[in-house]
Amino acid sequence: MVKGIYIHIPFCSYKCPYCDFTSVVSYPLKHEDYIKLLIREAKLYGDVSAKIESVYFGGGTPTLLPPYLLGKLLEELDRLFNLSGVLEITVECNPETYRYNEFKELLSAGVNRLSIGVQSFTEKGLRILSREHSVEESIRAYMDAREAGFENVNLDLIFAFPEQKPEDISTELNWIGSLKPDHVSAYMLTPYGGTPMGNKILGGEMQTPEEETLEDIYTRLWKGLKELGYGRYEISNWAKEGKECRHNLLYWTMEEFLGLGVSAWGFLEKKRYGNSKNIGSYIKAVSELKRPVQSEIGLSEKELYEEELMLKLRLKWGLREEELTLVPEHLRGFFEVREGKVGIREEFMLLTNELITDVLLYNSDRNITEVRNG
Ligand code: SF4
Repeated sequence: MVKGIYIHIPFCSYKCPYCDFTSVVSYPLKHEDYIKLLIREAKLYGDVSAKIESVYFGGGTPTLLPPYLLGKLLEELDRLFNLSGVLEITVECNPETYRYNEFKELLSAGVNRLSIGVQSFTEKGLRILSREHSVEESIRAYMDAREAGFENVNLDLIFAFPEQKPEDISTELNWIGSLKPDHVSAYMLTPYGGTPMGNKILGGEMQTPEEETLEDIYTRLWKGLKELGYGRYEISNWAKEGKECRHNLLYWTMEEFLGLGVSAWGFLEKKRYGNSKNIGSYIKAVSELKRPVQSEIGLSEKELYEEELMLKLRLKWGLREEELTLVPEHLRGFFEVREGKVGIREEFMLLTNELITDVLLYNSDRNITEVRNG
């Protein structure tokens, strides 16, 4: 049963040097025509059984498109999949794009959650990340969204970028404390090879914080967010009570979802599929009424379980107490148990990937039914 729809909008007004998402700065395709293609693609999934809880517009920069176009797509999705039971419709927004009027229009179109790509509340951070907006613009976008009536707003932050100091975290936290978003996502900068910044970091031309500094940065961040009343529910995500992102939770609990648009990923009938990353190929396939799928990965029971286990370990309280047996004894000190749930201790979050690898290895030869039952 499909519960979510992810829509990828592959347009940006500039390319950030660290970004490896599929997005283009100029392409001879009108935004309106891209929406028509998305509608056509959605119709190719008209026969799936769906009870949609969440729709998510990601990118790229969805807010490069006028709100009425996003609304038009939502109307079609409603006709096709019946969105009456939908709980969350999120749009990712760059701070320099929308103002009060656009936010009002977006609300009228049914969008009820915003995710604003602030990335840093320090001008230094924005300069290093080569973002084309100022701190002031981020604050203004947030205030306009609130004034327009958005009651569920996430702010996206990046940490561990070159030149970031542990002391800089207090500026990020001060703004979070005064703006009071409902949700905060804080992602550690990943140096992807093939991106200008990733190449420089991997080639030694640019340095990200040393391990000790990184630990200090992360500790200040999670402690500060906790003091401000945010609960961490996944390795990179914090929320006020009841404001956890439903869309991400669908991914993390292995629910089925459709991915529409260039480079979008979906999960259907135990298969992960990825759409073409090339806009030309995407246009061609959809114009010929073919699903623009470029890759499809069928997952065996064992692979499905491993993926489920990995996602559970990324969640703060993803494992049941009975499932603690999945963790080798010598690693149990890294975990804590509360109210029947198990999670990695806050202070060891930076070790999550290593812990996941060890837990998966420990269970790799075990019988899947035995493992499933903990
Ligand atoms: S605005 Fe977002 S999607 Fe576009 S290039 Fe920058 S990080 Fe990537």
